[in-house]
Amino acid sequence: MLLRALRRHCPVCGAREIWKAWGELRAHCPDCGYEFEREEGYWVGAMIVNLAVALVAVVAYLVGGLIAFGGRAPSWWVWLSIGLVLVQGIVFYPRSKTLWIWLDLTVHPYEEQERPDRR
Ligand SMILES: [Zn+2]
Repeated sequence: MLLRALRRHCPVCGAREIWKAWGELRAHCPDCGYEFEREEGYWVGAMIVNLAVALVAVVAYLVGGLIAFGGRAPSWWVWLSIGLVLVQGIVFYPRSKTLWIWLDLTVHPYEEQERPDRR
């Protein structure tokens, strides 16, 4: 399931055609029918995933800069790190949604009564 999420596929069945537009999921998976937005405000979790990845990345860039430049990273490195994290946050956004679905499914498994044909 994690590999499916990292590849931006449906974490439940692995379907690829789950995107309506860039960063915008369809309401349901076209193959298994899984409803992606399980409750109102669901995508706040995806934003937290994206923010957590950005924080890890900025710390890695800054610590890497301190190590690479002998304890005194130049200001251009700091600005480059900030720019890289901003671009990464935009590029990573769709993946943060499928990762959030995966995280949610590990805590709240997909119940049989949630399946569209069971309602
Ligand atoms: Zn699916």
